[in-house]
Amino acid sequence: MVAYTKILLAIDLTEESAFIADKAALLAKQIGARLSAIHVIEPINFAYGGDIPMDLTAIQDQLDEHARIKMAEFAKPYLIPEQDQHTVVGLPQNEIHRVAEEQKVDLIVVGSHGRHGLSLLLGSTANGVLHGASCDVLAVRVGKKE
Ligand code: AMP
Repeated sequence: MVAYTKILLAIDLTEESAFIADKAALLAKQIGARLSAIHVIEPINFAYGGDIPMDLTAIQDQLDEHARIKMAEFAKPYLIPEQDQHTVVGLPQNEIHRVAEEQKVDLIVVGSHGRHGLSLLLGSTANGVLHGASCDVLAVRVGKKE
C-alpha cells in the first residue's frame, strides 16, 4: 500500500483553520507528502440570489484579491508555495472536488463541526466534500458540538 503523496487542505480562513492546518502539515511531514491548500470564495451574487441590480464585478475582484493575500499569509508558516495555494471562486464542495481531481491529490483534509439534527440534514461543507470525493477525506473535528 502506498502512503498519501498529495494532501489538499481545505480552509475557510477562519480562526479554526490553523488548527486543521497544523494537523494536515504534521501528517504531510510525517509521511513525506506534498501539502497544498484551497480556499473557495463564494460569489457575491450567489449570496444575494442575483437580486442586486448592479455590477458587482469590482467588489468581487476586491474580495478575490483580499482572499489571495490572506491565503498567502496563511500558507507562509506551512511553507506551501504559491503554485500550491489555490484561491478560487465558486461553491466550496464543487471547487474542492474539482481542484482535488485536477491536482490528483489522494487526501483532502477538512474541518468538521460534528453537527447534529437539522444542520446535519442540511449538510455541511465537510459532508459535501466527503460525498462525491474521488479520494480519501480526513475530517478534523473542530469546535464544540452544536
Ligand atoms: P463548514 O461546513 O462551513 O463548517 O466548514 C467545514 C470545513 O469545510 C472547514 O473547516 C473547511 O475545512 C471547509 N470549508 C468550508 N468553507 C470553505 C471554503 N470557503 N473554502 C475552503 N474550505 C472550506
